[in-house]
Amino acid sequence: MLANTKKILANAYKHNYAVGHFNINNMEIVQGIVQAASKLNAPIILATSEGAIKYAGIKYLYNLTLTASEESKIPIALHLDHGKDINIIKEAINIGYSSVMIDASHEEFEKNIQLTKKIVQLAHKKGISVEAELGTIGGVEDLVSARKIIYTDPEKAKEFVDRTGCDFLAVAIGTSHGAYKFEGKAKLRIDLLKEIKRITKIPLVLHGASGVPKDIIRTAEKYGANLSGVKGVPDSQIKMAINNGINKINTDTDIRIAFDAAVRKVIFKKPKEFDPRHILNPVRELVSKVVEKRIRLFGSVNKA
Ligand SMILES: [Zn+2]
Repeated sequence: MLANTKKILANAYKHNYAVGHFNINNMEIVQGIVQAASKLNAPIILATSEGAIKYAGIKYLYNLTLTASEESKIPIALHLDHGKDINIIKEAINIGYSSVMIDASHEEFEKNIQLTKKIVQLAHKKGISVEAELGTIGGVEDLVSARKIIYTDPEKAKEFVDRTGCDFLAVAIGTSHGAYKFEGKAKLRIDLLKEIKRITKIPLVLHGASGVPKDIIRTAEKYGANLSGVKGVPDSQIKMAINNGINKINTDTDIRIAFDAAVRKVIFKKPKEFDPRHILNPVRELVSKVVEKRIRLFGSVNKA
């Protein structure tokens, strides 16, 4: 059975750590993530974007996750990331996701409240929890893009949470989606985060939080990638965010980069190799390594 996202996050809220949300697109990625989380006895949230659903199909991704949760001992929740299409959100609710995100952050405040409220009503009826977003996270990810960051206003966040009844809130405090997060020095608005946490009193979510690890970038570039100018969120800033109220951290880019680096390496080093299993097994291993580091950073080891 899939785990309950709200329960997993309630424990993280109570004990001040963060649960990893990891985006999935195929079986090897799921297995790599679950391998790491099982080794560390950590609860995890697997997430599908609308783009992933369009690519792989919601049933495939749902069943991969269900199988993973049945075969492992750790709590595994399934979450819809950046739900914007009401039909996809409804499909996720009906098929039995643990939680859904309604992202109406691009709308005006009142419209965002209305849309979020509607999804909360639909989801709560089935015991499914809801993540919403207030403010705008920068950058580009799948079908989601914003040109600049609009920081979340703490007073408005309080009103938003009270009026919508959402279970957790994605906040914009300076991170961006994708691999190019900062032009200058990385800096998160921890002051805002503290204030939002103090007055909303619900688990807060950090998007655009990948670390873009240098060793993985070096491997990808050694075997032909061009990733100049990429920059992630430093581990020290992630730690500070967790210490000040973040309980769910989304990671997608780091997994993509690991996938890319692993495939490039094996194809480059073994030009005679064409067995998909031999090409994708290193993906599973590298994804697992990257996820293991993330879980340790989040403080969720042995919280299963
Ligand atoms: Zn996001």
